[in-house]
Amino acid sequence: MVRPSLGCMTALHPDPVSAPPATSADVAGGPAPEQPASAPRRPSLSPSRAADFKTCPLLYRFRTIDRLPERKSLAAVRGTLVHAVLEKLYDLPAPERTPESAQALLAPAWEELSADPAVTELFTPVEGEEAPPSLEAWLASAGKLVESYFSLEDPTRIQPEGREQLVEVTLPDGLLLRGFVDRLDVARNGALRVVDYKTGAMPREAFEGKALFQMKFYALVLWRTRGVVASQLKLIYLGGSADALTYAPEEGELVRFERTLQAIWSAIERAVSTQDFRPNRTRLCDWCDHQALCPSFGGTPPPFPAEAAAAAGWATLPVVERD
Ligand code: SF4
Repeated sequence: MVRPSLGCMTALHPDPVSAPPATSADVAGGPAPEQPASAPRRPSLSPSRAADFKTCPLLYRFRTIDRLPERKSLAAVRGTLVHAVLEKLYDLPAPERTPESAQALLAPAWEELSADPAVTELFTPVEGEEAPPSLEAWLASAGKLVESYFSLEDPTRIQPEGREQLVEVTLPDGLLLRGFVDRLDVARNGALRVVDYKTGAMPREAFEGKALFQMKFYALVLWRTRGVVASQLKLIYLGGSADALTYAPEEGELVRFERTLQAIWSAIERAVSTQDFRPNRTRLCDWCDHQALCPSFGGTPPPFPAEAAAAAGWATLPVVERD
């Protein structure tokens, strides 16, 4: 299959955000409006939750409505650690954003993360389970990912407008879209680049869709809030041989993507109103923490938490039939 618009960063796309950085005041439309503090709580759609529902409606319910706890994983915690380092790297003056400085940020970032006992207990051996790595080896693996970053970008030449930035918009039909962008770069001419760091290896083509779904989500929100279609969506894969994928969305594509999200939201609303969240057994179930409560594995879900759902604002939403 040909991939006409998605490819390795260096091979196919010039850097559209290479102009000197600008402040948010240079951006058409200005910063996204904030929700008033008094706004009632209401459900929203994020890229991860939309992906959950597409993967398995019951998983969506368990995570978003029941809010069942899930076990942390070493891979996820390492991802959080590396993201924290890359975020803090850009707090430093540009000339000081060196590989050595980045490595030096690992220890304080780990100290913060390890204040959570659920994180440190991941290094405690559990009978019958594979032995965890030593903390030293695990931290070294995180350091290697941070080191890889410098083979893909030169942070001394980038001045992000935002890091771990909340982006959100309410569509005309009331659907609230929210997400956090790892990094947002804005050129003087207003060109936007949305950057997401992944600590895994670049996926095979067949699995690129999930990452692109997330990036199109951000592009849609930014387009709807700023009136600018991002020039580049950039996925930086730090694992494996370290590489980057870029994608240049078009306005028509974002319009179609918005309809896709509205269709997903309609399906979620229907599921809530009927309290009917079907399990969808796939290979991803191997990583699901909720097998014991899942009918696909002989379990029984807990009663639908109608009160919690109402408190989260679900009851205030009418079920809207959309095309
Ligand atoms: S085990 Fe599979 S089917 Fe069941 S809730 Fe989890 S993801 Fe869905």
